Amino acid sequence: MEGVKTTCPYCGVGCGIIATPTAPRIATIKGDPEHPANFGRLCSKGTHLGETVGLEGRLLYPEIAGKRAGWDEALDLVAKRFKDTIAEHGRDSVAFYVSGQLLTEDYYVANKLMKGFIGSGNIDTNSRLCMSSAVTAHIRAFGEDIVPCSYEDMEEADLIILVGSNTAWCHPVVWQRIEAAREKRGTKLVVIDPRKTETAERADLHLAIAPDTDVALFNGLLHEMRDTWQLDGRYLADHIHVPAGFWELPKLDVAKVCDIPASDLQAFYDLFAAHPRTVTLFSQGVNQSTSGTDKGNAIINVHLATGRIGKRGAGPFSITGQPNAMGGREVGGLASTLAAHMGFSLEERDKAQRFWQSPTVCAGPGLKAVDMFDAAAVGKIRALWIIATNPAVSMPDARKVRVALANCPFVVVSDCIAQTDTMTYANVKLPALAWGEKDGTVTNSERRISRQRPFMGAPGEAKPDWWALSHVARKMGFAGFDYAHPAEIFREFSAMTAFENEGARLLNLRDLASVSDMDYAALSPTQWGGASPFGPGHYPTRSGKAEIVPVKYQPPNAQSRGFPLTLNTGRYRDQWHTMTRTGLSPKLSQHRREPMVEVHPDTIQRRGLTDGGLARVNTATGSSVYRVQSAEGQRRRELFVPIHWTDQTSAEGRTGLLPSQARDPHSGQPGFKNTPATIASVHTDWTGFLITRDAPVTPDCLYWTRMRVDGGWLTEVAGVGDPASMLSLLPSGDLAEVHDMRRRVIRAAIIEDDKLVAALFINGTDRHLPRAWLISQLAGKAAHSIELLAGRPATPTPDRGPIICVCFDIGLNTILAAIRDQKLTSVATIGFALGAGTNCGSCRPELAKTLVNAIGK
Ligand code: SF4
Repeated sequence: MEGVKTTCPYCGVGCGIIATPTAPRIATIKGDPEHPANFGRLCSKGTHLGETVGLEGRLLYPEIAGKRAGWDEALDLVAKRFKDTIAEHGRDSVAFYVSGQLLTEDYYVANKLMKGFIGSGNIDTNSRLCMSSAVTAHIRAFGEDIVPCSYEDMEEADLIILVGSNTAWCHPVVWQRIEAAREKRGTKLVVIDPRKTETAERADLHLAIAPDTDVALFNGLLHEMRDTWQLDGRYLADHIHVPAGFWELPKLDVAKVCDIPASDLQAFYDLFAAHPRTVTLFSQGVNQSTSGTDKGNAIINVHLATGRIGKRGAGPFSITGQPNAMGGREVGGLASTLAAHMGFSLEERDKAQRFWQSPTVCAGPGLKAVDMFDAAAVGKIRALWIIATNPAVSMPDARKVRVALANCPFVVVSDCIAQTDTMTYANVKLPALAWGEKDGTVTNSERRISRQRPFMGAPGEAKPDWWALSHVARKMGFAGFDYAHPAEIFREFSAMTAFENEGARLLNLRDLASVSDMDYAALSPTQWGGASPFGPGHYPTRSGKAEIVPVKYQPPNAQSRGFPLTLNTGRYRDQWHTMTRTGLSPKLSQHRREPMVEVHPDTIQRRGLTDGGLARVNTATGSSVYRVQSAEGQRRRELFVPIHWTDQTSAEGRTGLLPSQARDPHSGQPGFKNTPATIASVHTDWTGFLITRDAPVTPDCLYWTRMRVDGGWLTEVAGVGDPASMLSLLPSGDLAEVHDMRRRVIRAAIIEDDKLVAALFINGTDRHLPRAWLISQLAGKAAHSIELLAGRPATPTPDRGPIICVCFDIGLNTILAAIRDQKLTSVATIGFALGAGTNCGSCRPELAKTLVNAIGK
């Protein structure tokens, strides 16, 4: 089979991919050189997609109450329970909770069914957790949820400001484009982030502001621009509405509020003043906040008032987290919008109902994510369909969400993965298609619609989500769901954007409403709204002008009693959300094998923690256990933890338990950052690891985390008391063993036909035994049992250290040795010497950081 052009299923950059199947469930992956999002580049996650397309862990057949069922039987039950629930408790007693992973076609059918036929607004999406504050800020400022920029703007800007965005890790190809532009034209880079991330390491100026002080910072910048005559009077007069009294907002001591040196603040102001071509790119550090919408508007206000919008190389640019968060926004998958960028006015609801020819239409917005699960907890939502998302892990105060799922009388979960934390609560499980099997469209952060095309057949009885939704709609007695192909849905959605749209909405896909099936199959990436939708200076408001929105800095709540620290959350470079897919990749699992809590060295000392030891992070809503990682780039008294681990991959590494349900009053987006917290060391008597060829049984000990490795699994363990029970984790077979129970040391290996089946190493409190050589023994003929029990070959090989470059398996120790021995002085020379960073490039920021640490440059 020839290479198939498709789109990466991870982040909102939306990179084009050419996937070439080479055997059943095996494909080679490369970047599509013609796709305008990436021009052939891919990050580590995209590069290793080929390791995630197997059938391991897949849900292949529908299940009812944990038993295999036929599709007809399962969908009959879903339709009946939804109908019965509506008949008994009303249309608002049912809900859909969907996902930015869905294709636009899936999203459209779900939204149409809920809002136009069931007649409730109760469909919300995990994009609520991700960028709903940016949506609300856009609507407040522009009248419509429009992203004003394109990726090319970053290449034409003279100054790029990254706010609350670890772009190098979370949107790596955008980062590669920024780095290339900086090299070419010397673009200045300011990073605004409480943490000194890999992104911040590369900045000309890093403002490590106190969490949630962004509004003060950007209001301060706006005042400075006014006071120094840097506003664009003509643009303001012609294109912007400024509310009366706006400029009378009180001035703050911005440096003090943001807790940054006054000289750094002035340097920021000066850089902004000197570079009119400015792009301000913002992400989760802005959105995932109880003041996320105001932060977005504070940023937009500065761009509007200085005329830095609608021009090449300038604009406020919200970048989305998920591959089709934008598609979801377009169809109306958020509970706070109706459909196709329409709201809930009488006129808009009438328009949608006439377009859908539906019996009813929802009366207004539905329940947003947190409210939806709260309603389920108290019996107001009684039938819930969750599609392509894992809220039992990802929602804030996730313990409460589990109570809600347990209490809800009827829970349907559609997913491609059989065992997720959310699946545990499903009455009906529906097998969905996965990436590589799906057929439809996604829209990326710059409004570019791209095709996801299948290059593998559907396994088992997996079906598209739009198919399952359409069948349930028909079984509920609704007309208008006779779709046979996603192209029909795409045409209908496109037609809806154009329906009675005389320019009031910029989202208008009129030209795509009549694409033939063949044209849809061949659709090349298409950006709607053009590169600069506000280029003409016209905004989709009643007046045609954009709105400056007055936003006031609100000091965050004082630290709660007993929680003197601040907890921030975020992502790792090589993992995606709850790791149901990236966790399948041994390559990607090398970068971070355990969930770490990053702590400033001073805080480690003051709190009696140990770098590399375990610590429990407590907040008002929950507690989780992490390995401590000393991090100079962390502000004192602040902690950072990753979001990825679940009950499937750890004993207590779930971060969703920790943030509270506090949310932005305008968008309903939860504030995943800036949670009052405390941390305490966790005592263990022993620590160790288990390597297994087959999926390991779940340990019964204080701490464990599990990751894929080449040829099997690695489980890290730690506990108290006698570790002898850990021996029960070993499968049966020929056992070679040495132990010293007094010192809590166990070394055991199971060998079968000269091959290593499993190895258990418990080593008192010393966890420094390298794993790499033992893991390598899972492949091929195993070493002699004496070497296995020693944990190293008779002729020792150097420990390469934690893996930095996953493409070429190059570890930190190898890189440091090369820097020292070969006198390497740049990332390029490291690449030349070792190959590190020369494939996907995702590790280049870490290589740069390693260089700085090693030789100070
Ligand atoms: S930057 Fe990486 S994760 Fe994001 S779309 Fe591109 S390849 Fe996929």
